[in-house]
Amino acid sequence: MQSTDVIVVGGGIAGLSCAALLARGGQRVVVLERGAAVGGLARTATHKGFSFNRGAHALYRGGAAQSVLASLEISLPGGSPALDGVAYWGGGRHRLPSSPWPLLTTGLLSVRGRWALGTLFASVRTLEAGEESAAQWAHRRMPDAPSRAFLSAMLRLSTYCGDLEGVRAADAVAALRQATVHGVRYLDGGWQRLVGALEAACARLCVEVRTRAPVEDVQPRGVTLRSGEAIEARHVVLAVPPSLAARWADVPSLNTAAVACLDVALRERPAGPGLAFDLDDPMYLSVHSDTATLGPGAMVHTLHYGAVEDARARLEGLLDRALPGWREQVVHTQFLPRIVVTEGIVPPGPHGRPGVRAGGLWRVGDAVGSHGGLADAAFGSAQEVAHAILAAAEPRAA
Ligand SMILES: Cc1cc2nc3c(=O)[nH]c(=O)nc-3n(C[C@H](O)[C@H](O)[C@H](O)COP(=O)(O)OP(=O)(O)OC[C@H]3O[C@@H](n4cnc5c(N)ncnc54)[C@H](O)[C@@H]3O)c2cc1C
Repeated sequence: MQSTDVIVVGGGIAGLSCAALLARGGQRVVVLERGAAVGGLARTATHKGFSFNRGAHALYRGGAAQSVLASLEISLPGGSPALDGVAYWGGGRHRLPSSPWPLLTTGLLSVRGRWALGTLFASVRTLEAGEESAAQWAHRRMPDAPSRAFLSAMLRLSTYCGDLEGVRAADAVAALRQATVHGVRYLDGGWQRLVGALEAACARLCVEVRTRAPVEDVQPRGVTLRSGEAIEARHVVLAVPPSLAARWADVPSLNTAAVACLDVALRERPAGPGLAFDLDDPMYLSVHSDTATLGPGAMVHTLHYGAVEDARARLEGLLDRALPGWREQVVHTQFLPRIVVTEGIVPPGPHGRPGVRAGGLWRVGDAVGSHGGLADAAFGSAQEVAHAILAAAEPRAA
């Protein structure tokens, strides 16, 4: 039977980064990935020279992801978008009040709304929010419907959570703070660059990464693959979402954010804003190719937070309004009618995400730990588990 120090079940960004950090600390690590390739939700497909992430993906700056990538000496080319754009509201089109001048001049807001939003964004670094829902918090903070609708759109953009009743205000506000204070980056070549860099780090550090290796059973000291092969280890790290981890560990379930995505590669970029929010119907559009290289033309991501039945028609309608003429420029489209962004949305109440220990197993991923949300949670929990295992490891003879 094969024996190793650590088995990581799941080869998404959480599993790969945890494996690399452990191997750098001297552990022998095996990553088992059920798919034909590693990367999980962060994989990018290529069609006709364009890089298609699985929906709009932005790497948050200033958080755990950035610090773990830096510690692995991974730097990724890309660009940071401005938040300039338009908002559709009640049949009108308005400038997005996302920076001081548009905030003062946009026709979207009343004087009271301007004041409330201006005060909120001016104090965003120290904003506090509690256990209530993000929807309740936004309702309390904003005086009227348009200012509430805009703040809600910003909270959705930061969390990917369509149902703001289902997310704790403290977590949504932390995500808003990170997005607005530090900003985000779109990666040249898409998130596959990130996956490729983690894969390369694993290879450099002699991690054994096995694809097409679905794990069937997990115990604290080893796993059994669907093929029947058993591998034993001192530690097993679950790097799969809660719904899958629950097969093997007592894992509390959080809320799930699911969206519909229409991603469109265009020969030429039509004139129009780089960012557009629909405040009547929760969806947005972003031209990622304005700041990152994603192919020989324009790459536009659109996303509906409700994953409703006619999402495609609604998203095409948003494209028609924001970027007229786009239909004549289409090279390739990718429509994902319902894709789970994360199972790690913290609901209102006193409890945050669970910790990295589950029975005798370790857990990493975007539903674990207190390191922020999404990729920050994935990288932050990976780092926490790697530190804990390395701290407990017996020093090896040189
Ligand atoms: C539309 C969309 C937009 C997003 N936008 C952003 C964004 O802007 N910013 C951001 O930070 N994040 C974003 N995310 C979320 C981000 O992609 C995820 O948080 C991150 O990729 C999760 O990584 P992970 O390793 O925790 O999990 P996953 O990517 O889910 O990886 C889990 C891996 O485990 C494997 N696996 C499952 N079961 C088994 C088994 N039995 N045996 C072996 N392997 C198994 C799976 O095949 C998979 O590869 C977005 C996601 C989506 C879908």
